[in-house]
Amino acid sequence: MNFKILILSGILILTGTRISFAVQAKKENPEITLISVYDNYQVDPELKTAWGFATIIKTPQELILFDTGGNSEILLSNMEKLDIDPSSIKKVVISHIHGDHLGGLEGFLERNSNVTVFIPNSFPQSIKNMIIQNGAEFVEISAPRKISDSIYTTGELYGPPKEQSLIIDSKKGLVVITGCAHPGIVTIVKRAKELMKKDKVYLVLGGFHHPPLSCVKEFKELGVEKVAPSHCTGDLVREAFGKEYKENFIEYGVGKMIEIK
Ligand SMILES: [Zn+2]
Ligand SMILES: [Zn+2]
Repeated sequence: MNFKILILSGILILTGTRISFAVQAKKENPEITLISVYDNYQVDPELKTAWGFATIIKTPQELILFDTGGNSEILLSNMEKLDIDPSSIKKVVISHIHGDHLGGLEGFLERNSNVTVFIPNSFPQSIKNMIIQNGAEFVEISAPRKISDSIYTTGELYGPPKEQSLIIDSKKGLVVITGCAHPGIVTIVKRAKELMKKDKVYLVLGGFHHPPLSCVKEFKELGVEKVAPSHCTGDLVREAFGKEYKENFIEYGVGKMIEIK
């Protein structure tokens, strides 16, 4: 009798273990998802395009909005079509002062003021006042620092104007996200590697600010695995990246979603 119970409980334990393994396997969500919500390049024809840049970074913990495009109506309309609730965003990072990255901020804050806005330290008082008047708070960025779990800012780098970029320390390698890359896209990638003391760059995404064509070769030398140039990169440079990177070139534009697993 006792022996039977022993066997039975053994089977139950084994079955239980198997079930928990199955649950674990199912839970394999992406580590990071990047979603373009504003760009002059289009991927999803249902969404609106306009000159500017905004990307949502979704981590297992939170949603971060990086830049806001130039127009909040377009930004909010695209987010709605992508089923992203503005109030689910708790952090906003603004790369630099140009209107095609900052212009959508006030309208966004009118919809959701329960956010912390990470702005370059060099921003004028008028922008800081606008953030406060809309009921949000801001953090001024000059030096590199952590923004969220595994997400860092490069700190202000000089362009002109001064600009911050984001670095995600993913399991696949570093992911660098730039607004306009006024300090120079190659300079930013090099800085990201130095700051994180890591050599593997998995992906560089965003506006590359029409760099010289030689930057494609420099990216290869820097060991950049994948590229997703958009916004102000320029068609010629974008095509050159496409030719060189082939399946590792990601056509980024409004509506595009990239999962990093
Ligand atoms: Zn700019
Ligand atoms: Zn721009």
